Amino acid sequence: MKRRIYLSPPHMSGDERELLLEAFDSNWIAPLGPHVSAFEAEFAAMHGVPAAAALSSGTAALHLSLLLCGVRPGHRVITSSLTFAATANAITYVGAVPVFVDSDERSWNMDPDLLEEALERENRNDRRVAAVMPVDLYGQSADYARIVPICQRHGVPIIEDAAEALGAIYQGRRAGAFGLLGCFSFNGNKIITTSGGGMLISEDPELVERARFLATQARDPAPHYEHSTIGFNYRMSNLLAAVGRGQLRHLDERVARRRANFEYYRRELGDLPGVEFMPEIPEGRSTRWLTCITIDPARFGADREQVRLALEAENIEARPIWKPMHMQPVFAGETMYGGKVSERLFRDGLCLPSGSSLSEEDLARVVAVIRAKAKPAAV
Ligand SMILES: *Cc1c(COP(=O)(O)O)cnc(C)c1O
Repeated sequence: MKRRIYLSPPHMSGDERELLLEAFDSNWIAPLGPHVSAFEAEFAAMHGVPAAAALSSGTAALHLSLLLCGVRPGHRVITSSLTFAATANAITYVGAVPVFVDSDERSWNMDPDLLEEALERENRNDRRVAAVMPVDLYGQSADYARIVPICQRHGVPIIEDAAEALGAIYQGRRAGAFGLLGCFSFNGNKIITTSGGGMLISEDPELVERARFLATQARDPAPHYEHSTIGFNYRMSNLLAAVGRGQLRHLDERVARRRANFEYYRRELGDLPGVEFMPEIPEGRSTRWLTCITIDPARFGADREQVRLALEAENIEARPIWKPMHMQPVFAGETMYGGKVSERLFRDGLCLPSGSSLSEEDLARVVAVIRAKAKPAAV
């Protein structure tokens, strides 16, 4: 069996080990500690915001963001249908109801026209929309030049789910800084990882302070344990923050490598009929966290699933594009605006191995399998 090629494996630089051992030897094993504060400060500085809160996961960041926006049971939160379930799950943690919006063709992210329609309709029906949660999919920012003014007109705060887009740029700014709150993930398959972890950022340092308070069991200032709010155990440990600092230093190199993977695939597969690549909007620069393609079976000669299975037979991991939330059994019956775009992307879309440590030989293996599945005339 050939060596397995993973979709997006962790990529350590060497710095992480040193920082982790330093944290270990200092006996700061507990949550919190100097590496947590330093990781937060470095992350905030990189994003041009005054503060950041290091958390146990990206999902925790989304959950706290909803609480900080005052989202309560019965409220509605508009989000992208084409996303990982964590986005929509977090909405249900606070008892709110997700309202899903389709993707647009140009970015695969939340369609601003459908967002506007959703806000108008949901508010007219006297059902309060308490927040909008756009997702920056597969390394690319949503269209904030349109989304921000629409949300402002409706007086609804934005929570940016930038879990997949750390390092992306939109109109000269880093992704994650376009909402009232921005959320990131350091899960094992993300562009940088702490094995598990997340970060919440905001322009408002008081919101970040409040997030830290809620994430440490909401302990009121007192010598004993005093509580006037329900809290959570959501802080990042000092050991993992040390790993995160080592990873963050190399973010820009990781972005460059993932973009180079994308360019390789486009060069080597771009001529195949029926193969299209995820578009990049001119206002932004995607990290190409994952290289995503769509395969039109009529023109290509095989469908997405046949290609995925052919890769798997060669011990290469590839994944379908996210199954939209409005198609998930658990969210059946929730309101959906549009749907055709994300349904097609799910049907035809495939994420190719995209790790920043892939070798040219690995990339060539992937390309050879895909080319072999194309119609003979095309090869
Ligand atoms: C990974 C991811 C999350 C969740 O992050 P965790 O750190 O795994 O909790 C949330 N939203 C999106 C879009 C993601 O891809």
